[in-house]
Amino acid sequence: MKNIVVAIDGFSSCGKSTMAKWLAKEVGYKYIDSGAMYRAVTLFCLRNNLIKDGVVDTEKLEKRMNEVKIEFRVNENTGKSDTYLNGECVESEIRGMEVSSNVSPVAAVPFVRHAMVDLQRSYGEGGGIVMDGRDIGTTVFPNAELKLYVVASAEVRAQRRYDELTAKGDTVSFDDILKNVQERDYIDMNRAESPLRKADDAIELDNGLLTIEEQNKWLMQIFNEKTK
Ligand code: C5P
Repeated sequence: MKNIVVAIDGFSSCGKSTMAKWLAKEVGYKYIDSGAMYRAVTLFCLRNNLIKDGVVDTEKLEKRMNEVKIEFRVNENTGKSDTYLNGECVESEIRGMEVSSNVSPVAAVPFVRHAMVDLQRSYGEGGGIVMDGRDIGTTVFPNAELKLYVVASAEVRAQRRYDELTAKGDTVSFDDILKNVQERDYIDMNRAESPLRKADDAIELDNGLLTIEEQNKWLMQIFNEKTK
């Protein structure tokens, strides 16, 4: 069986990571959440006053990018991979609303993207990887053997995010989340540097139409065809 690269792109909260994690576990591949990397850079910016009202101080950030060290380490209790920023586990903090509300402007900065793309490519050497994000099939791994582009309505996605955050005990408003999802979509699709778009050879999946079981079955079939 071939060791391939699986690139899963799409809008925020459309179920990409659930699919990607499931597939990686099932077939014994590495899973990399590229969004977590942009979230960790955003946390660094927030903690160091490098972003204000959605505007990034690019001059200062560029000088300090060498202080940003991102890694993934497997959590022995959950078996899942956690995101570390400069040696500190920031997995929970990067999922909160403050980071979510500031991540898209940070992810639009070209030198931030170049640094993250280099790191993402280094993880993909030798294949055997599932990576999800916005530009994985278009920019990070344009030669990926399997590319998926996942879509779902903004309301379906906001509801998922709302359920996730309230289950964690966060007090959040559905309307704020919907607004955040729509704003991120807009910025992600309209930025100059690798905007979110479907790669020409990506397979589109409307995640709102299938149950998880149906989706997983579909995904495994395509994966098996590509690795034959
Ligand atoms: O996937 P997730 O929603 O966690 O990603 C957070 C943000 O990071 C996205 O809204 C997007 O702005 C940015 N991102 C990106 N390119 C990627 C992954 C995420 O620009 N490959």
